[in-house]
This record gives sequence, structure tokens and C-alpha cells, in this order.
Amino acid sequence: ARFRHDYLEVRGLRVEFGGFVAVRDVDLTVTQGDLRFLIGPNGAGKTTLIDAVTGLVRAAAGSARFGGAELLGRATHRVARTGVGRTFQTASVFEELTVLQNLDIAAGARRGPATMLRRRRATPEAVEQAMETVGLAALRDVPAGVLAHGQKQWLEIGMLLVQDAHLLLLDEPVAGMTQAEREETGELLRRVGSQRVVVVVEHDMEFLRSYADSVTVMHQGRVLAEGTVAEVQRDPAVVEVYLGA
Ligand code: ADP
Repeated sequence: ARFRHDYLEVRGLRVEFGGFVAVRDVDLTVTQGDLRFLIGPNGAGKTTLIDAVTGLVRAAAGSARFGGAELLGRATHRVARTGVGRTFQTASVFEELTVLQNLDIAAGARRGPATMLRRRRATPEAVEQAMETVGLAALRDVPAGVLAHGQKQWLEIGMLLVQDAHLLLLDEPVAGMTQAEREETGELLRRVGSQRVVVVVEHDMEFLRSYADSVTVMHQGRVLAEGTVAEVQRDPAVVEVYLGA
């Protein structure tokens, strides 16, 4: 069978911390070209869901399939080699190295082909293309440490592209950004989302209205609603959770 990298399928996901159930019975399907936002009040389980899919926390039950592979139960580096990339709220780039050097390091860490034994370095052309995609070509020789907050986030996304990630899980990518940076990021997510499976954890409703193709709302570890922004916004259960909070 051909491995399809154009959708993520989570089924029956459950995550427990001690006796506390942080994520329960979560089903989630996200396809390429459907820029998905994940929202919900603090503590809803959004980060835990992403942590489970990327191998950072252990799932008690369920499955998460991407590219023909089961992600749950794998170590984080093996999940990454399956083509899954993830960002955190605080960008982790090498501050003293230039934009290009950061991307070159990511190029060396690119996932291997089907065998997973041999590592295939991203070509210089792929590095150039990623730099263009994230809008940092003009800043190639600038140390990452002097980049604006937003630009660091873009560099981090660029590093995931160079690593050939086809599933991107982004945790609040526009937090702390200026309005101009937000718009740039929205356009970037659109470009990237047309070619990859992208899930974005985000709170900013204005940003969602502008860029989300679809939204999954979580509450108390469960999926509460799913649909377009307009659909979930008029869902009585969602209204209650947000007004009651
Ligand atoms: P969100 O990202 O939606 O704000 P989280 O996934 O961070 O929510 O948290 C979901 C719930 O799980 C919260 O009640 C949180 O306190 C709890 N939680 C998260 N991580 C841990 C952990 N490592 N140990 C214990 N409880 C945790």
C-alpha cells in the first residue's frame, strides 16, 4: 500500500496523569488543505493531545495514524521521522547561528526514506525554497537571536519544512505577535496548509475567522464541537462553555 501523508486520523485517544483524565475519547481527522484550528478553554486538553500525538506523553488508549504509521507508542524522534513536526509557544532556534545555518542544521536532521536507516540530507534548493516560503530569504545571514519574535516562529516553521514534515502541529504561533506579523503568519499557514496537514492551537478568534478552514473545540478533555468558525460559534454547547468560563 502507498503511504498517504495527506491526513491525520486520531481515534479514541485517552491520556491520563495519575488518576486524572486529561484527554478522553477523542476522535480527530484532519486532511491536507483543511487548515484546522484547535480551540478550547485553558485545561481543555489541547496541548496534551498534541503531546500524545508527538510522543511527548504516553496515551492510555487509542490510535493516531499518519502516513500509514501508528504514531502512539513511538519515541519523539521516531515520530519526527514519520514526518510530524511540532512547534512550541517559545520558538527554539539556535540564536547565535544565522537563519541559513539554522535551516542547514534542520536539513541534516531530515527524516530518512522508507527504510528509516539512511538519512537523506535536504538539498540546498529545498533549503532555499523553505526560506522563501517562510519569507526569510532577505534575512538569511542574520543571526536568529536578533530576529523579531514573529520571524523566529517563521524560522521554526521553515526548519520543519526543511525536515520534510508533512504534519505540522503548531502551538499558539501568533501569541505575542504584532498585527502585521499575524497577517504574515496567516498567509504563511495558508501556503503551508495547502500542501501539508496543519493543526494550529490558537485562542485569537479574529485570527481564526480570517484563516481557519475548520475548527475543533475541546472542553474537559473531549471534543465538544467541530465545523467552520461560523458553525462552532453558534453551537449552543460552545457558547455555554465560553460564556460560562
Ligand atoms: P490546554 O492545552 O487545553 O490548556 P492541557 O492539555 O495543557 O490543556 O491540560 C489539560 C489538563 O491536563 C489540565 O487540567 C492540566 O492541568 C492537566 N495536565 C497537563 N499536563 C499535566 C501533567 N504533566 N501532569 C498532570 N496534569 C497535567
